[in-house]
Amino acid sequence: MADIASKKRKRASKTPELLRGFRDVIQEEAPYWQHVQASATDLLLDYSYSEIQLPILEATSLFKRTIGEHTDIVSKEMFTFEDQGGDSITLRPELTAGMVRAYIEHGMFNRPQPVKMYSIGPAFRYERPQAGRYRQFNQLSVELFGDAQPVADAEVIFISYLLCKQLGLDVTIHINSLGSSESREDYVQLLKEYIKPKRSLLCEDCKKRITKNPLRLLDCKEEACRALFIQAPLLVDNLDDESKKHFVAVLEHLDESEVPYELDPYIVRGLDYYNRTAFEIVASVTNDAVEGEEATVTNLIVGGGGRYDGLVEILGGRNTPAIGMAFGLERLVSAFKKTKSGISSEKKPQVFLAQLGEEAAKHAFTLFETLRSNNIRVRANFGKTGLKPQLELADKLGVVYTVILGQKELLDQTVIIRDMENGIQEVVDLTKIVDEIKKRLKKGR
Ligand code: ATP
Ligand code: MG
Repeated sequence: MADIASKKRKRASKTPELLRGFRDVIQEEAPYWQHVQASATDLLLDYSYSEIQLPILEATSLFKRTIGEHTDIVSKEMFTFEDQGGDSITLRPELTAGMVRAYIEHGMFNRPQPVKMYSIGPAFRYERPQAGRYRQFNQLSVELFGDAQPVADAEVIFISYLLCKQLGLDVTIHINSLGSSESREDYVQLLKEYIKPKRSLLCEDCKKRITKNPLRLLDCKEEACRALFIQAPLLVDNLDDESKKHFVAVLEHLDESEVPYELDPYIVRGLDYYNRTAFEIVASVTNDAVEGEEATVTNLIVGGGGRYDGLVEILGGRNTPAIGMAFGLERLVSAFKKTKSGISSEKKPQVFLAQLGEEAAKHAFTLFETLRSNNIRVRANFGKTGLKPQLELADKLGVVYTVILGQKELLDQTVIIRDMENGIQEVVDLTKIVDEIKKRLKKGR
């Protein structure tokens, strides 16, 4: 008895840990996230995409109706629960459904079309955690509503490509056409007939897919299944005329704008709602060499998207063509880190503010703010007292100058500027500190 009680106590006192498949982005990694997000939003704003912020929790029915009951996401990956009022709610597994809901709910079809939006934030899927796959991950979703023309598909793909290029990634767009939902039905029959005699050779998931979601057979990750589909009839060979024309026009746009792409007839995408264009953005990343071995190059799918012309109507809106894509930000950041392009040194601190004595410490906030609000990148440690530890810190930060505010200087209304390279110190008027620092920084020292 005593043993059980002590075990329980031990468990209760253990420091709580992260849930499996969840992660923290700590200080060392956060600048990479900031860089990727800033670089993406600058580009999107330049191309007239506006930000929209959406809730993380939505009604479960939103995802069931849009993503589809028989997809992996809805059938086994959603974090769904009842709230205190007894309603079924779900942590969003992706952002597009919410964007479509918002488009309808805010009557955005009354605005000039196309409506171009992006949204950034977490998504949740109860998947088996592994490299590059988390249970909470972040997406950047980019959507264009109200334009059925191939140029809209090409625009979204072009911008996705630019975004990767801007981050120094080496990417190729893998692209396919899923045709119209009608032409797909005929194709699905062909596919079923092809695979039925081989049924016993398929993995358990694929056996279920034959009846529940046959198109998904094509993107099974099992080698044995993949081998079986090499000879299978292809969707692209069975497109209706309009979809074929559309696809060719999209590819022509990509050719013109020099977007590198590969035709990939096996892309079907995980969600039910796509029609016509479907694509994935594949980054080729160089992994660091481990001891005794050469660096390896792997392909990482950083994002994907497609056209979803029926989706707005499925949710009760007007018939509105749309195309969108989503980046997985964990993968984008990880690929960006591996480019070793680093983060702009612009943000490196220029000045350290050291203070000596009680009175100076009290004035330090004000002086710090004077420097900061005049666009000088200043750092300080307000809790440190001695000069030596503060100079050491300044050294570590690599600042060009340290501004020293001491008891005597405060009385004289002066400060000392110390050149961190040669240790030369000069006394200047407190009121002139901003000009004095700027003058020196401009001179290159
Ligand atoms: P996959 O084939 O890798 O499972 P998916 O088709 O499920 O991808 P989408 O729903 O299209 O992925 O999501 C868009 C992007 O979000 C993916 O390309 C990927 O970069 C990222 N992503 C999807 N699921 C996860 C996850 N569990 N963890 C991290 N990133 C993810
Ligand atoms: Mg998936």
